[in-house]
Amino acid sequence: MPDKAAKMPDNEAGQALLAAGRWLFAQGCEFKKGVVSLEALPPADRLEIAFAGRSNVGKSSLINAITKRKGLARTSNTPGRTQELNFFLLAANNAGAEAIEGAGWLVDLPGYGYARESKSKIAAWNRLLNAYLQGRPNLRRVFVLVDSRHGLKANDMTMLADLDKAAVSYQIVLTKIDKLKRGALETVMAQTQDALRKRAAAHPQVLATSSEKGEGVDALRAAIASLVDLPALGYKAELNDTQAG
Ligand code: GDP
Repeated sequence: MPDKAAKMPDNEAGQALLAAGRWLFAQGCEFKKGVVSLEALPPADRLEIAFAGRSNVGKSSLINAITKRKGLARTSNTPGRTQELNFFLLAANNAGAEAIEGAGWLVDLPGYGYARESKSKIAAWNRLLNAYLQGRPNLRRVFVLVDSRHGLKANDMTMLADLDKAAVSYQIVLTKIDKLKRGALETVMAQTQDALRKRAAAHPQVLATSSEKGEGVDALRAAIASLVDLPALGYKAELNDTQAG
């Protein structure tokens, strides 16, 4: 089954990270702010992790799946409406979350590549996105979602080039793998990894997910947890002393 590719390495450190990811997302996650201009961005005083992807890639569904909150990110948004950067506070129910060293922001970037969008809107979106990517020192990683049925498209490649240029670390997350035929996941995985090989800011691990079936959702939580200052939130890893092994 495709599930194999979605899993973290099957060792104790990988298991510890999966547990940490589950813990982190049991701490709640709350929508705080929708932003349409750079002036309105919250202070860059904490870790930030963003999600990008073509419209309809399944970004809202995946954010809802990792946070276990069905209505948190709005699914099937009408393309072409006001494009916002949506800020969600990670571990919002944790007493340390509002503190500077607490969890951080999950940022839902507007979907790109909607065919019927006007040129001026696309240009405005690109300006906002590039200014955001270049001016956000606390942005630790952008998860770029790619529909597993289609693989990387031209506008995804533009996104990756923008990220390389801004020197922002990014990781590809394949979506909707439940829609793939048997064997197709291995092919798209290999093609995607190949396309990333020479890209400066790309994380080599490609995640494979299905919001519908839950595959890879824990692995994505774990990838996020690996970036968060968990001890600052009071997390004590159960398998802490096994990580060296
Ligand atoms: P967004 O525009 O990127 O936020 O995409 P949405 O989350 O709104 O999803 C777009 C469409 O794809 C919706 O009809 C979802 O039901 C569907 N979808 C999203 N994730 C999955 C998935 O993992 N599997 C399947 N089969 N459909 C999905």
